[in-house]
Amino acid sequence: MIDLYSDTVTCPTPGMRRAISEAVVGDDMLGEDPTVNQLEARVAGMLGKQAAVFTCSGTQSNQIGLRTHCQPGDELLINSTGHIANFEGGAPAALSGVTVRTIEAPKGLLSPDDVCGMVNADDQHLCETRLLCLENTTNLGGGCVYPLQQMQQLAEWAWSSGLRMHLDGARLFNATAEGGYSLEDVGQCFDTISICFSKGLGCPMGSILVGNRKQIHRARRIRKLFGGALRQAGMVAAAALYALDNNVDRLREDHENARRLAALLSDIDGILLNADDVETNLIYFEIAEGFGSAVQLNNALADFGVRMCPLGNSRMRAVTHLDVNADDIPVVASAVRDAMASGIADRQVMGTGPHPK
Ligand SMILES: *Cc1c(COP(=O)(O)O)cnc(C)c1O
Repeated sequence: MIDLYSDTVTCPTPGMRRAISEAVVGDDMLGEDPTVNQLEARVAGMLGKQAAVFTCSGTQSNQIGLRTHCQPGDELLINSTGHIANFEGGAPAALSGVTVRTIEAPKGLLSPDDVCGMVNADDQHLCETRLLCLENTTNLGGGCVYPLQQMQQLAEWAWSSGLRMHLDGARLFNATAEGGYSLEDVGQCFDTISICFSKGLGCPMGSILVGNRKQIHRARRIRKLFGGALRQAGMVAAAALYALDNNVDRLREDHENARRLAALLSDIDGILLNADDVETNLIYFEIAEGFGSAVQLNNALADFGVRMCPLGNSRMRAVTHLDVNADDIPVVASAVRDAMASGIADRQVMGTGPHPK
């Protein structure tokens, strides 16, 4: 199957499995796992930060990050399509007692104008506005890349307004592959940054939260509180180190494949897609009215050995990644063309399909 459901569906390669099996490990909760320590120091250095803490998942690392900055009763600001606001099970409220105030923004990219005036006055009736969260690349926003200057302006605004800055950088390496800026440039715009190894980088699990020494010290306490402190985690940190060596530079191939696929899809009758909107490895498109639903298309694609991710009634997401190669792209486009030509609107379906990870 050519699986474009998400960049999380990748399986560890033989090389990565070898790195995992050969990892030197110790008890990470005692700070004694050399592979975890190496990974944390390396990623902190890449972002120009003092420290990092390895976590189980992107959700966990975002939630540890926001709890590092916020107390129960505080609020955070985030674009309305943000993963933290929509796809983490209500965790800001459930785990930290934090209110999420969402802000509409095209492509999920906030601008200084969008946030201006959003900090509550010092009034006992109101939440204390504590944190601004950005996402780069934006997931539901379309895999879009923040311009560096926009992040810098938002940081300047947030810090001068007494807020902290957190980046959900689940796909930060996809952003820096296209954005024309470095990880260190990004590091300068945020207090804490979360990065996933289980997305385009091909690892079986693992994320990381970076920040200054004091914040990461506190983040370690919260990781323990949230049940995420680990023992011989070098087994998985080794996969992340392997990914940094082998799977970062190739992300442009995924973006190239995504743009080629988008161009082919945009020519198909009943598919609404502006190929120019595709900036990284996430492709979103609409199925035109009367042509059937996204679930119907996905079911039809299964007959051709292709899977995508239906979102609601008419929206579909397709994601390129390590396990999708250039030769797969025309195959996928033909499958969509043939499925649409066969007429999907009459297909019997159950449910509305899964949600995007
Ligand atoms: C996938 C993702 C996460 C983290 O998801 P996990 O499944 O918990 O690893 C966070 N933010 C964004 C934007 C994501 O796409």
